[in-house]
Amino acid sequence: CGIVGYIGFRDAYPIVIKGLHRLEYRGYDSAGVALLDHDLKVYKKAGKVEDLENFVKGIEMKGTIGMGHTRWATHGEPSDRNSHPHSSGDRRLTIIHNGIIENYGVIKETLTAKGHVFKSDTDTEVLIHLIEDIQKATGLDLKDAVRVALNKVIGAYAIVIMSADEPDLLIAARKGSPMVIGVGKGEYFIASDATPIVEYTKNVIYLNDNEIAYVHRESLLVKNIDNSVQTPYIQELDLKL
Ligand code: GLU
Repeated sequence: CGIVGYIGFRDAYPIVIKGLHRLEYRGYDSAGVALLDHDLKVYKKAGKVEDLENFVKGIEMKGTIGMGHTRWATHGEPSDRNSHPHSSGDRRLTIIHNGIIENYGVIKETLTAKGHVFKSDTDTEVLIHLIEDIQKATGLDLKDAVRVALNKVIGAYAIVIMSADEPDLLIAARKGSPMVIGVGKGEYFIASDATPIVEYTKNVIYLNDNEIAYVHRESLLVKNIDNSVQTPYIQELDLKL
């Protein structure tokens, strides 16, 4: 179970795939990536990261913003359709998640009654539909909609969200699952631990529980889910890898 994200000026795909390989030691059953170029593209497969790489062979994997996931199934068997990323009903939003959304059942029931159709058996897909639903019902922008949704969720998570309508934004959040942000020049790296990041930058921010990072290429804003702005502490990695 691992998470990798990139936003910057380089091709995201090679960075994301390399990062997923570095996180393989944690164990997993499926892998997937999302890339945003003009469109939001999602590729996912049960199996190894290598199987995902073979699956996308010959496809031009473009985009300077992207994310990748290795899944350790908790809700829904390991399969292509249960693999992450999971997208909203309108396919404009996509999410990767490590952890468990404990109250996904009630949220799923409410959303199903409102007409949401789910494509997987995961708890994760419920969260991205909830964000979409809040956005459409309230007119909030994505940043606020994510915060409102996370206030409704019980459980543990490390998540990264991308939007087809926000080509300069990665949203990362955590509660009970680790999340590190590598700070570069005009680029940021996100990962479950520092191993995918250390070759690019030694400057990292460890997100705290209940924090959401709004990551743009040239800047980063961290808020608590209570909406208070946090001052992120950038520390230097001392890892001999
Ligand atoms: N609960 C999610 C699922 O089963 C995420 C599992 C994970 O941590 O990889 O899809």
